[in-house]
Amino acid sequence: MLFDFIIVESCPKIISRSEWRAQQPNCTYHLSTPVTYAVIHHTAGSPCSTRLSCISQVKSIQKYHMTHNRWCDIGYSFLIGGDGNIYEGAGWDNRGTHTANYNIEPSMAAQNAAKSLIGCARSKNKLQSDYVLKGHRDTKTTLCPGDKLYRIIQSWPNYKA
Ligand SMILES: [Zn+2]
Repeated sequence: MLFDFIIVESCPKIISRSEWRAQQPNCTYHLSTPVTYAVIHHTAGSPCSTRLSCISQVKSIQKYHMTHNRWCDIGYSFLIGGDGNIYEGAGWDNRGTHTANYNIEPSMAAQNAAKSLIGCARSKNKLQSDYVLKGHRDTKTTLCPGDKLYRIIQSWPNYKA
């Protein structure tokens, strides 16, 4: 028997916009992929540990970004809940916008979800093979992500300040 070239798409389950009942974006900007950078942020707001409470956080972040910041849509490409779930934000093919700072250590489930999302982005060729992982504060003057998460991501593959 021959088992070769079996392509396994190693993507975690992502809770889609329709599953969390996102509002339609007011505008979108196409992102050409694969992209060079994966940038990690912290969101501001209460922690969440269940799908229900995380969905309510994601919805309120989208509302804040669209009404207060007057952005087209939720600013993040994907959001990872304290429940370990990945929530689709602007998604793979739309450009996000980002801000915010907060200093907590994310749950192991959330950290693992972030790593598997990066692996997924590689397997879908949405992220270049020589991608660079950065924290938001490596790209501009901000306290995002907070000290604890910032320290954690520095040990992740491909991190470069
Ligand atoms: Zn940020």
